Amino acid sequence: MSGVVGLYNVTNPVTKTVYSLYSLQHRGQEACGLFVSNEKRIVGHRDAGLVRNVLTDSAVAPLAAENPLHAIGQVRASTHGIEAGRDAEPRYFRHLRAEFAVAGSGGLVNSEELFRELQEDGAIFQSTSKVEILAHLVVHNAGRFVPALSESLRRLEGGFVFLILRRDKMYAARDPHGMEPLCLGRLDDGGWMVASESCALELMGATFVRDIAPGEILEISRTGLTSHRYAPTEARRAHNLMEYVYTARVDSVIDGVNVYHSRFQAGVELARESFVDSDIVVGVPDSSLAHGAGYAAESGIPSGYGLVKNKYSGRSFIEPTQAERARAVYLKLAPVKYLLEGKRVTLVDDSIVRGTTSKQLIKVVRDAGATEVHMRIASPRMIAPSFYGMDTESYEELIAASHTTEQIREYIGADSLAFLSIEGLRTAVGLGEGVLDAPWTGNYPTDLYSHTAAVEEGAARSRAILGDPRSA
Ligand code: 5GP
Ligand code: MG
Repeated sequence: MSGVVGLYNVTNPVTKTVYSLYSLQHRGQEACGLFVSNEKRIVGHRDAGLVRNVLTDSAVAPLAAENPLHAIGQVRASTHGIEAGRDAEPRYFRHLRAEFAVAGSGGLVNSEELFRELQEDGAIFQSTSKVEILAHLVVHNAGRFVPALSESLRRLEGGFVFLILRRDKMYAARDPHGMEPLCLGRLDDGGWMVASESCALELMGATFVRDIAPGEILEISRTGLTSHRYAPTEARRAHNLMEYVYTARVDSVIDGVNVYHSRFQAGVELARESFVDSDIVVGVPDSSLAHGAGYAAESGIPSGYGLVKNKYSGRSFIEPTQAERARAVYLKLAPVKYLLEGKRVTLVDDSIVRGTTSKQLIKVVRDAGATEVHMRIASPRMIAPSFYGMDTESYEELIAASHTTEQIREYIGADSLAFLSIEGLRTAVGLGEGVLDAPWTGNYPTDLYSHTAAVEEGAARSRAILGDPRSA
């Protein structure tokens, strides 16, 4: 996951892009960038860091001075944590055949194969980012831009979106499965806006037009929109359930589903499936407040803001070492003793990956005087890694791949623990069959290429330890 935004034919595209990136910052905090075009030149700025630190007034002033009409921007969540500055996007490419800037989001399962193939063909890579793969593929295809781009996108396997800025045009592309979100909006002055999440459109006062379709390239030019399809419509749909569980902001609507609603409903389903009596329900801020509200509403137990989030610290997941991660949880969340002291507490969180957050939270809540702490997780046991842009690429980091729910309960120190069932999650989101649920089922909608052996091994190990890891 990362976040992208594009603005086409608008006044002050620099300011609009920076504001939009603030609203997408939750999708990535490692690096960010912004490229603009005044139809004569494409220039930009990108670096490691948060929007407020990288896209400062002084850093973007030279871009605004170009009097640009169009812009694309990105906030990046590095899934490999190599060199954030070097990998920052958008990236700019210039070749005999084309000049363009690209920003992307998501993950490819066949990037290793493509890296090798392109290098054997003479390509030199400066980073590990998939936009470089795309750029090389595009210029390897002679001929017109859209057919070259279509041919290139057909080579990619995984969940992705790309925004491509040429001097006078913009292209928005989405993977054939619809794993990664991307939507289109229109500004009052007639300009176009494309963003990972509709919350960016709302911020800019843009009217939501539609989601970019899976397998579509949307071409935006002065003459309007042209939709190209580079992949067949019958490609297996796999809208990423993780967007609704954790990734997206609650005020966004993705593929017709309101994120707040899906989280509230997941809380409702969780209360139906695994009610436990207590005095107060506390949703873990910020990602699980809606889950907590749904659980409280369905269970009839009052909810309270029993944990305070320190808004000035980053998300714990981006901390590199386990020790640092553990510390970051304390920094992030403080208990409201007034609400928790002497109470039986039900904590509702969106997910357990390593178990670090839950373990720390339960300690924090007990230290504040809670007599019992029950943990309720608004997604199923996470038993399989993800290669489509999430930061969970191996079995080793998934506690549910090697531990039963009872063992996890003991590890995190809860009085009881329950996960939402996959049926409950599907019901809450309501998108039907065409969803990506690989983290909880181990069913991948694509071939896994170089990851195949590791996945087979990991799954076999899990089965040997747990029998059926989904229900262990
Ligand atoms: P854990 O601490 O169990 O390793 O991770 C789960 C916690 O991390 C949850 O509270 C969740 O909100 C948060 N989190 C941060 N980034 C991610 C992410 O990329 N995926 C998931 N599933 N949870 C994340
Ligand atoms: Mg959380």
